[in-house]
Amino acid sequence: MRETSKPLVNKVAIIGAGPGGLATAIALRKQGIDAHVYEKAREFSPVGAGVSLKPNGMRCLDAIQPGLVDKLRRLGFQVQITTLKTSTGETIWTTKTPMMPKDQELTFAIWWWHLQHILVSELPSEVIHLNHSCINFEQNENSVTTQFENGKTVEADLLIGADGINSRVREILIGDGQPRYSGSMCWRAIIDYRGELLLPNEGLIIRGEQTAMILYPLGEGKMNWSAGKPFPESFVSPSAAEVKYRVLKEFSNWMKPILEMIAETDAETILESPICRRLPLKQWSYGRVTLLGDAVHGMSPGGGQGANTTFEDAYELAECLYNFPDLQTALSNYDQRRIQRTVVIQNYSEKMEKISYQNIEEQNQQSQENFAEFERWLYDYDPNLESRLRPWKEKVV
Ligand SMILES: Cc1cc2nc3c(=O)[nH]c(=O)nc-3n(C[C@H](O)[C@H](O)[C@H](O)COP(=O)(O)OP(=O)(O)OC[C@H]3O[C@@H](n4cnc5c(N)ncnc54)[C@H](O)[C@@H]3O)c2cc1C
Repeated sequence: MRETSKPLVNKVAIIGAGPGGLATAIALRKQGIDAHVYEKAREFSPVGAGVSLKPNGMRCLDAIQPGLVDKLRRLGFQVQITTLKTSTGETIWTTKTPMMPKDQELTFAIWWWHLQHILVSELPSEVIHLNHSCINFEQNENSVTTQFENGKTVEADLLIGADGINSRVREILIGDGQPRYSGSMCWRAIIDYRGELLLPNEGLIIRGEQTAMILYPLGEGKMNWSAGKPFPESFVSPSAAEVKYRVLKEFSNWMKPILEMIAETDAETILESPICRRLPLKQWSYGRVTLLGDAVHGMSPGGGQGANTTFEDAYELAECLYNFPDLQTALSNYDQRRIQRTVVIQNYSEKMEKISYQNIEEQNQQSQENFAEFERWLYDYDPNLESRLRPWKEKVV
């Protein structure tokens, strides 16, 4: 991406200081655009669980800011072997984590909070505005004015809604209701590493009856656990103690070391989430407002692609604003580059989520299904290559 030229827009307001909003702000500021991030949280605090970062997302982040991926990798962790077990502890297989040599440096897991922290540190502190919850915006031919709950308003040339799956910007821009529940609940936590469960370089996939869990080390003496189970309706447990009670109950027939791990996890740190997706849109950008990341293509975590596709969005949006002669053309090209790809990745993620709840025999059969070609298309996304814009050849995976 070139670093200097007369920008197409001068001032940009980005709603949300998640991975998408922050990466976009870094990319736009490098072009000389006065991009500011408005975040509803009052402070940045150690939240979130582990996120796996993949070559497609990391190549985009590296193109946005060379050196950034190295910083992330230093705080992240790379799994070398993967083991599949049953919920009673029987090992089905162990394998070296399959990875193309060119992907090795670009595949690792990191704590969401560390990811956010590193991205924040790439921006001048005065361009991040905490305690700014977007409640409304109005646009006309010349500008867009955003209103915040704290009474402030901000005028900009472009507004980017990077405010996550429950996006307020999307609600105002599109008004298509709440995210759609995908049919399973998920619980996640970061805990101190437990050597009795997994080797320091091992990722563990555990399958039970209609239950699944993934464990992996995160480095610095920490590890991540993530447990899921299908439920016809989503729910919100009324307290942290109830959340923990629920996980223990749903996994009560699992092996003892897992139950001990859950029992010893601080209830306050367990994140309970209904797995949701956003229905695809035919158009993301209207006038001076566009969407990015989970706000537009929130997807189930089965494919480990939410944050990664968000970095692709950030790269492509900045690239379009840089290369096209006017805002309308830039935004319609951004939509065109992103819509088909993200729909296909949403479908893949949902499919992977469903596969994780099949029994092991069914899963083995399913794994005969060849995802290799699709995953090459997914992971090979490279800002240096025009071929990245090649659409996937089929409608669904
Ligand atoms: C169980 C689970 C596991 C996951 N694992 C992975 C994984 O392995 N790999 C991966 O790539 N992705 C994973 N993801 C998805 C990933 O976390 C998200 O896709 C990613 O964080 C999206 O980034 P974002 O910036 O679009 O939105 P978010 O991260 O949701 O950030 C949105 C930001 O906007 C702020 N905000 C919201 N509303 C407002 C408002 N009105 N005004 C101002 N600010 C606002 C929020 O506080 C937040 O800081 C997982 C998700 C889940 C649920």
